[in-house]
Amino acid sequence: MAFDYDSENIFAKILRGEIPNRTVYENEHALAFEDIRPQAPVHVLVIPKGPYMSLDHFAQEASPEEQAGFFAAVGEVCRKVDVSHGFRAIANARLHGVQDVPHFHLHIIGGAQLGRMLPAD
Ligand code: 5GP
Repeated sequence: MAFDYDSENIFAKILRGEIPNRTVYENEHALAFEDIRPQAPVHVLVIPKGPYMSLDHFAQEASPEEQAGFFAAVGEVCRKVDVSHGFRAIANARLHGVQDVPHFHLHIIGGAQLGRMLPAD
């Protein structure tokens, strides 16, 4: 599919410094910051600095350097926050995934026991 990035989304504004954020970690290719409405004691969003709207967009079109930088940031975040007992990483995408902000972001959620990801049958 063709990916159509909207540069007025809220995370693009955070990356441009137009909206403040509570930064957890930053490198050349990624920024990690606290979610404004945390779902658990740890709730960090890791985003690439490039204009990618979703995980599949990022995986298909980001350079190897951007992808490595992004996952290095994920690793550093997991080192910095307390997820020693585990965590959940979520990437919502588009309509069926109920993605609200159309800039790829990985939620790192933990610091407490979570429920099952999807209701059991
Ligand atoms: P999505 O539903 O797109 O996967 O998740 C978007 C996330 O972004 C939500 O968890 C929401 O709380 C968070 N969020 C929305 N606006 C802001 C903001 O301005 N700052 C921060 N730090 N998080 C935001």
